[in-house]
Amino acid sequence: MVKITGFSTRDVRFPTSLDKTGSDAMNAAGDYSSAYCIITTDSEYSGHGMTFTIGRGNEIVCAAISLLAPMVVGKDLDEMTADWGKTWRYLVSDSQLRWIGPEKGVIHLALGAVVNALWDIWAKTLGKPVWRIIADMTPEEYVRCVDFRYITDAITPEEAISLLKEVESGKQERIKEAEASKAVPAYTTSAGWLGYSKDKLKSLLEQSVEQGYRHFKLKVGADLEDDKTRLRIAREAIGYDKGNILMVDANQVWSVPEAITWMQELAEFKPWFIEEPTSPDDILGHAAIRKALADTPYGPVGVATGEMCQNRVIFKQLLQAGALTVLQPDACRVGGVNEVLAILLLARKFGIPIVPHSGGVGLPEYTQHLSTIDYVVVTGKKSVLEYVDHLHEHFVHPSSVKDGYYVTPFEPGYSVEMKAESMDAFEYPGQEGKSWWRSEEAKTIIDGPRVV
Ligand SMILES: [Mg+2]
Repeated sequence: MVKITGFSTRDVRFPTSLDKTGSDAMNAAGDYSSAYCIITTDSEYSGHGMTFTIGRGNEIVCAAISLLAPMVVGKDLDEMTADWGKTWRYLVSDSQLRWIGPEKGVIHLALGAVVNALWDIWAKTLGKPVWRIIADMTPEEYVRCVDFRYITDAITPEEAISLLKEVESGKQERIKEAEASKAVPAYTTSAGWLGYSKDKLKSLLEQSVEQGYRHFKLKVGADLEDDKTRLRIAREAIGYDKGNILMVDANQVWSVPEAITWMQELAEFKPWFIEEPTSPDDILGHAAIRKALADTPYGPVGVATGEMCQNRVIFKQLLQAGALTVLQPDACRVGGVNEVLAILLLARKFGIPIVPHSGGVGLPEYTQHLSTIDYVVVTGKKSVLEYVDHLHEHFVHPSSVKDGYYVTPFEPGYSVEMKAESMDAFEYPGQEGKSWWRSEEAKTIIDGPRVV
């Protein structure tokens, strides 16, 4: 019996805006940040969950974590995990907190951190990585983790069980593939940030090809002629006919007609999909863009979104509207593992592959579990997963890629525990003499102009 005794939050920010890591057409200068929820127990274990943000505002998420986390203090871990769907429903049901959502925005970002911290403790007490807990569940046990409210018009628990049973026969072989780190092929965005120079872009892409990557993503949407130049450089580096796949990401800068005309101009570079062409809330807009780009002179350009998709309800509608070529769940923008499990079921039902959002601090650590679950348990089909090679050194068990595949995590937990010294060194506002944010250099960000 493990009882939850308390919690703390930490506001950790890395000054990535200094070198434009993570820059795109909407987010010119982000400071990759983690809003942590650390749950303590009466056992030797503590649970680490986090939500990703890009700087200012991280403290608001930490404040929301401080309002939600007391709901689990004093609870018994076995009881909470015995009926996970019910527990998740309980965590979204404080009506006063629900009012500032519901199930979206800051309160939902905070929920992701709290729920993921619970999965982290649970996994540690079971001595398993999170992906393996799910892989060892029966279809009925998986389905009990999900709150089906608002999605039963698209998928019922009974239907979900039968979909999971359909792929059960090959599960043991797929677990062996996961154990050999051949379950999750990786793609890279590390080369394609908008603020990087053309020379840096070219040399990073060439390096990525040498490292065994086959999928590459570039940011677009700031300047059409510049996009053409950068995509030409990219295609020269990765080739048109060598089986290498190019993807582009506009981070929501366009209105719907602009997205269509801009992408018609870029279709000659044969991108697999345009990611986040417009507002993440615009379900019918995404459907219109997908329809318009289904037939260009160079072939179809698909549509992908999800990193700012608020919850399973929006994903359901995107799928029902035929708006997606690829679905990109985020590990912490929705309400943690349980809601992602619901989204994986929806994607499976509609036959749309997932490519989780993974371009941020801590996200690859999380999503390696989710893509493994999707392959081993939900679809039996491999899907690619973004890998961004920044900031992994701060994690106790960093994710990594070898020969173009994610190295499957074996350590018990959900992999986002950060080293204590890294937390101290980058906590905001942090302690004098310990945190970088108290340094002279930090003033260039703290007192500097806001980049809009
Ligand atoms: Mg993106």
